Amino acid sequence: MTQRAALRDQVHPTRFRDLAVTVDFHCNSACTFCIVQEGMNNYRGVPLERFAAIVQDNLHSHKYDRVVFTGGEVTLEKSLFDFVRLARDSGAFQHVRLQTNGRKLADADFAARLVEAGVDEFFVSLHGDTAALHDAITQRPGSYDELIRGLENLATQPVRRITNTVLHRTNMEALARIVDVAHAHGVVEMELWNYLPMEDHDDEQNLIAPLAGAMPSLRAALDRCAALGMRAITKYVPRCLLGAHGGTLDNSQPDTIIVESFWNEFPRFACLYEAECEHSEECLGLSHDYVRKFGWEEETLVPEPRQRPWVPRQQGVEGRPDATVEEAAGGVSGHPAWEALLAGLPSEVGRVVQVQLNRNQARFTLSFANDASLELVLAARDDAAPAFQQTVSFNIFYSQAKGRYESAQLENLLSEACQRIAGRDDGSLSLDSRKGLVQLARVRNERPRVV
Ligand code: SF4
Repeated sequence: MTQRAALRDQVHPTRFRDLAVTVDFHCNSACTFCIVQEGMNNYRGVPLERFAAIVQDNLHSHKYDRVVFTGGEVTLEKSLFDFVRLARDSGAFQHVRLQTNGRKLADADFAARLVEAGVDEFFVSLHGDTAALHDAITQRPGSYDELIRGLENLATQPVRRITNTVLHRTNMEALARIVDVAHAHGVVEMELWNYLPMEDHDDEQNLIAPLAGAMPSLRAALDRCAALGMRAITKYVPRCLLGAHGGTLDNSQPDTIIVESFWNEFPRFACLYEAECEHSEECLGLSHDYVRKFGWEEETLVPEPRQRPWVPRQQGVEGRPDATVEEAAGGVSGHPAWEALLAGLPSEVGRVVQVQLNRNQARFTLSFANDASLELVLAARDDAAPAFQQTVSFNIFYSQAKGRYESAQLENLLSEACQRIAGRDDGSLSLDSRKGLVQLARVRNERPRVV
């Protein structure tokens, strides 16, 4: 299976036609759950020249259909119009979207100028059904009224209006009413994202919504969307608790141009039932911080028995670029430098069938004995994490040993493979230890097997 195919299996494919560009890290609101609080006034946006290069690239590659300008609050960025015009006038994208808190759209002239410059989609944040609730969350009195005026201004423009609501403890009872507000203002599509704990890992703000409270309210909101004919998308919630709305779950993200350090704090997720649940490729389960606070919810989650073999997830939720043509062209993987780590493995010991590489892991599928196989996995070296073996740069573990083999054959293969990797790991290859679907220590499923 090529890397491209692997990605397509796991995420909503259309998101890979989207590119998010962070142009600004200032904001005129201060949402309690903000996921870039640390970077606000601190991170740098993408320079216009860099975006110009991306535009040129996309004119040739046609990789992205949509560009999404985000931040921070993009409408505060003076050069936003330059970005929008460049995106539109170049013809590099079919859609130009702004992700905004909507406050500056209260200025009808400003909203009209954005549309004139080329924005055809507005993705605005609506977190409460009343000014009191919304403003309490944004911590800016008047922000709700400005947003509503902004939606009214957009109603006079030929643009698509989408809202985003972050589900957390403060608004979890109000979701269905928020749908009504959005619908009343011409919104055709809603995205409901579960709160991502990026910085407050102990949940000192008490924002993480317990499933028992959040999910019935979310289902009611999704019922309301369906009744009103509105499209709905959900993120970061357990699929098994969405009822008839399981198809709304879409955890994919566009490729995102943002300072690297953003990913340091991106939450990790896990589900006890990952290996046995049919939905585990698309469903992330629960964030680690949720598990620490509320437990695994093993009596609440309802795994759908798998009909297909389980393959551990290969990528983080950020999405990642597909393999280049050059990468895909050569070798068993298109990753010759990684294949070289195991070069010369005696054929009677084992054979590399495939190498899959993502941001966090290099995964070697090895065949050995008669019809046996296993996955040898390299992750970034982490002295605090359990590992079968460590090398200069990597923690090595293995999983999915299957087929008929003698334990001596398995041990021999592991020994030969690890020796080669240790001998060739000179620090020139590295993996990212940050963001990814890294599991907490498991209570039930045995994989990944580590010693
Ligand atoms: S059991 Fe786990 S993986 Fe399956 S749908 Fe529920 S939360 Fe997701």
